[in-house]
Amino acid sequence: MDILTFLRQRAGDFRCPVCRRSLADCKMRQLTHQGSQYTVEVTCRKCDMAFVVALELHGGGDGAEEVAAAAAEAPPITADDILDVHRALKGYQGPLTALLEPDRDQP
Ligand SMILES: [Zn+2]
Repeated sequence: MDILTFLRQRAGDFRCPVCRRSLADCKMRQLTHQGSQYTVEVTCRKCDMAFVVALELHGGGDGAEEVAAAAAEAPPITADDILDVHRALKGYQGPLTALLEPDRDQP
């Protein structure tokens, strides 16, 4: 089984990091292949967001393949995350830049 066929069968289980729609019908293009490691460019058909997925395949005893490591990227920021920040800052009176600067009291 080639990597794109393998991914295609599972793409419906994943969602676009940007528009959150199913990646079942996404576009896929293999970029690199070294041993059991692959990188594949995945493009969402709904919003055209493209991202690279790194995979390592291990052959199973029965010939089945298993994804050992996939997409080590941090999850995307969601609307809920923005609301959490908004709530956390609700009573804050200082400048926003002060929140981004390192704490000068630390050694
Ligand atoms: Zn999308």
